[in-house]
Amino acid sequence: MLDATRTHTSVLIIGSGPAGYTAGVYAARAMLAPILVQGIQPGGQLTITTDVENWPGDESVEGPDLMIRMEAHAAQTGCDMIADIVTDLDFKTYPYTATLGSGKTLTANSIILATGAQARWLGLPSEEFFKGFGVSACATCDGFFYRGQDVMVVGGGNTAVEEALFLTNFASSVTLVHRGDSLRAERILQNRLFANPKIKVLWSSEIVEIMGTTAPRGVETVRVLDNAAVVTSDIAVKGVFIAIGHKPASELVAGKIETHSGGYVRVEPGTTRTAIPGVFAAGDLTDHVYRQAVTSAGMGCMAALDAERFLASQRAMAAEKPAVEDYV
Ligand code: NDP
Repeated sequence: MLDATRTHTSVLIIGSGPAGYTAGVYAARAMLAPILVQGIQPGGQLTITTDVENWPGDESVEGPDLMIRMEAHAAQTGCDMIADIVTDLDFKTYPYTATLGSGKTLTANSIILATGAQARWLGLPSEEFFKGFGVSACATCDGFFYRGQDVMVVGGGNTAVEEALFLTNFASSVTLVHRGDSLRAERILQNRLFANPKIKVLWSSEIVEIMGTTAPRGVETVRVLDNAAVVTSDIAVKGVFIAIGHKPASELVAGKIETHSGGYVRVEPGTTRTAIPGVFAAGDLTDHVYRQAVTSAGMGCMAALDAERFLASQRAMAAEKPAVEDYV
């Protein structure tokens, strides 16, 4: 844990997924004494996933276990951790300043943004009403509650298929509702899905309303529109798992750093450099193409190396802050 007296660092890392922790390992091993602010969900998205079967070196590893190991590795190499959130970043004066939820401020010569992405929701009022009462975005967290019951999963990517398969461990039946007529999940996962007798797929379909009881609050039925036949049907389920992808957690830098249309932070191709000198972005916050734990970790490594080079070039210059003055 952090030496509480520290208020300045060469490298401030924001985010504790594979990108953040890998940046922590590399920056610490470069003797840069990084500080890593872990955020609301230490460990990131992998803490709410089940088996990870594509992390090189581990045929199968539980997502939360992998993240505990990454955190321990970063800490052991000398990365200081803070269990807090960053609420504001000031790039106008150098060193840059981060304000934390606790009110503490930290100054940093370089910053690695690795805040990841968050689950997307359908945006239906009934979805909002039943969130936490039958509607979830995390089968790993909530699947256990649906033992012997019928559930529904929405989406057609790896997450949706993995969640559907995982839920068959508890539920009597799983209905996968997908808006398209083919899945984008990996073929190996699709094969497992189609071979599982507990899972039924509704193609070209979307949820129009989730219905249930109000006291106690609970899901009973989901109205699904079949876009091909243009008919709706009511399907009795107790749980609805939304697995339709993620959106980058870029609110912290909105209006301060250039983003792509989906909110992904823009970096110079082939690097992790943003348009602000000494500010780097890595992982799902910037990557709308690959979005894998291993690619995030790779980008975390790149960001630490980019930060190290930036700091070395700063030190090499006679004046303390020329590159930054260009920006400010
Ligand atoms: P994806 O973006 O891959 O898939 C999202 C799915 O949700 C798509 O099928 C999409 O439909 C559908 N969708 C999007 N918006 C809506 C909407 N408003 N209504 C209905 N359906 C919608 O997200 P994932 O979370 O599945 O995966 C994200 C990344 O993480 C991917 O790169 C994936 O490979 C990776 N991942 C890897 C895992 C692993 O390797 N073990 C596990 C989980 C994720 P459409 O296809 O029509 O666009």
